[in-house]
Amino acid sequence: MAIVGGGIAGLAAAWELVSGSGTGGADTDLEPEVHVLESGDTIGGKLRSTEFAGRCVDLAADAFLARRPEATDLCAELGLDAAMVPVGAAGASIWARDRLRMMPDGLNLGIPTRWWPLFRSGILGPGESIRVARDLVSPHLRTGATFGDLSVGQIVGARLGRPVVDRLVDPLVGGIHAGGVDELSAAATFPLLLAASHQSGSLMRRLGRAMRRQTTAAPAGAAPSPAFWTLEGSTASLAGLLAAALEQRGVTIHTGVPVEAVERVAARGRGERSVPAHWQLTLGGSARSDPAARSDPAGRSGRANRNGTDGEEGDTGTGGTLTADGVVVAVPATEAAVLLAPLAPVAAGMLSTIRYASVAVVTMSFPEGAIRAPLRGTGFLVPRTSTIDDRQALITGATYLGRKWPHLARPGDELIRASVGRFGDERHRLLDDDELTTSVVAELSRLLDVHGSARDTMVTRWDSALPQYEVGHLIRVGRIDQAVSELDSVAVAGAALRGVGIPACIGSGRTAGRRVLDSLRNGVESVAS
Ligand SMILES: Cc1cc2nc3c(=O)[nH]c(=O)nc-3n(C[C@H](O)[C@H](O)[C@H](O)COP(=O)(O)OP(=O)(O)OC[C@H]3O[C@@H](n4cnc5c(N)ncnc54)[C@H](O)[C@@H]3O)c2cc1C
Repeated sequence: MAIVGGGIAGLAAAWELVSGSGTGGADTDLEPEVHVLESGDTIGGKLRSTEFAGRCVDLAADAFLARRPEATDLCAELGLDAAMVPVGAAGASIWARDRLRMMPDGLNLGIPTRWWPLFRSGILGPGESIRVARDLVSPHLRTGATFGDLSVGQIVGARLGRPVVDRLVDPLVGGIHAGGVDELSAAATFPLLLAASHQSGSLMRRLGRAMRRQTTAAPAGAAPSPAFWTLEGSTASLAGLLAAALEQRGVTIHTGVPVEAVERVAARGRGERSVPAHWQLTLGGSARSDPAARSDPAGRSGRANRNGTDGEEGDTGTGGTLTADGVVVAVPATEAAVLLAPLAPVAAGMLSTIRYASVAVVTMSFPEGAIRAPLRGTGFLVPRTSTIDDRQALITGATYLGRKWPHLARPGDELIRASVGRFGDERHRLLDDDELTTSVVAELSRLLDVHGSARDTMVTRWDSALPQYEVGHLIRVGRIDQAVSELDSVAVAGAALRGVGIPACIGSGRTAGRRVLDSLRNGVESVAS
């Protein structure tokens, strides 16, 4: 079995194949020989961390959502409960009307469900707040005929007014995708909102009731669950720890091995049992398999050596091929499109239309006392319509790392991680690292009243990193699934499909692993019958 892509989705697919927790797995008659093929020098994909100012900091994802179960369940299966660290602060601010203002209580993904806290937050002016109140008092008629997808911005703008879209919903929902809510699909990113938009009555009340139902669903007397978790090593350490567990269960992980093509090959016998061997993968680079390098729990890795014999099932060969009876493609959509084009042109066509946003992360350590503004909550967001010193803001948001994750706090400094770039705004790509850092520090000086310069800085660029779920996305994903399911024992997984967050990617990897295993089991049964 081959997994193409060693990001969290690919690793989760491999885990599903060997963990026996799904409908398939090691407890069935099929004991798959699993190879993970990763083009980069390290496993983990967007999960990466490094040493910075004497601490291990994440370079992209730094938290996973507690509300979805997939990441916490995986941590439990890996025995990591004791290593899970809850988020250390609550709330965040928005740069609105020329200052940082705490977000009001009662937001459901940025959409206000209570008017008074919104009014008091000052994020909207008095007239803008009154416009929002109309949602509560004047009845909305059901749109009736409209049952298709709409953009998040379209729905919220029509019900609550443009300022709510620009100052609350776009920074929050758009921020998750580094996209714009006027393009993002409500069906894919906020299905509850789409459902509510098809109903008459107040949007705020309806979303508020849904929030309360979620809260009351927790068992009575249970301690409130944190909104986010990380791991004590780093969020990226999940990838390294998962890779180590996979290797203990016999999975081979190859780094520095780009898969260049996947072709269907004729079925052939294997020992006593006749198992169809369907797929031949053409490998580039130099195959590596160095357990020590890949299993670094901090999510970093390095060298490896070549292994395998040309053409043997399950081995990466010196001829650069791997033959496998099932394949999970867990790479970004643009790469998946290239691999699937000869096999499933409709799926490839759909994948190639998924567009990506490029972002960058600037991590900084400021000496104690340099930041004069109070650091409240976990950080702040900057709406795309904001100007700072008469120029469109470059920063999209910032995290107070030592507040969000108290284990990263040290006396004598304050770690700040700023994000720049979003879909349609790639100004950061025109700046070199020094220019970008200078611009970010200048904006921070205004936002946080910073005096003096940063002690340490680091720029991490994530080009074409975040897929945009544009209106109609789920129809596209349905067609991709349909077309790929017509190939025997191939499945797709990853952030391009049904959720960009770590839990969603884990879920998508595990589902893909289960699909391939189920289709192989059916194949074996039909060969035997
Ligand atoms: C800056 C940033 C911050 C984020 N913050 C958060 C956060 O706080 N919380 C959260 O839940 N999510 C966050 N995310 C999103 C989340 O990290 C990603 O969506 C998720 O990790 C993607 O996982 P994946 O396995 O689908 O893809 P990837 O991580 O992209 O993995 C795909 C892998 O496939 C490899 N590959 C590509 N082509 C080939 C090929 N031909 N052959 C072999 N290998 C190939 C790549 O090298 C890569 O390692 C963030 C993302 C970014 C960019």
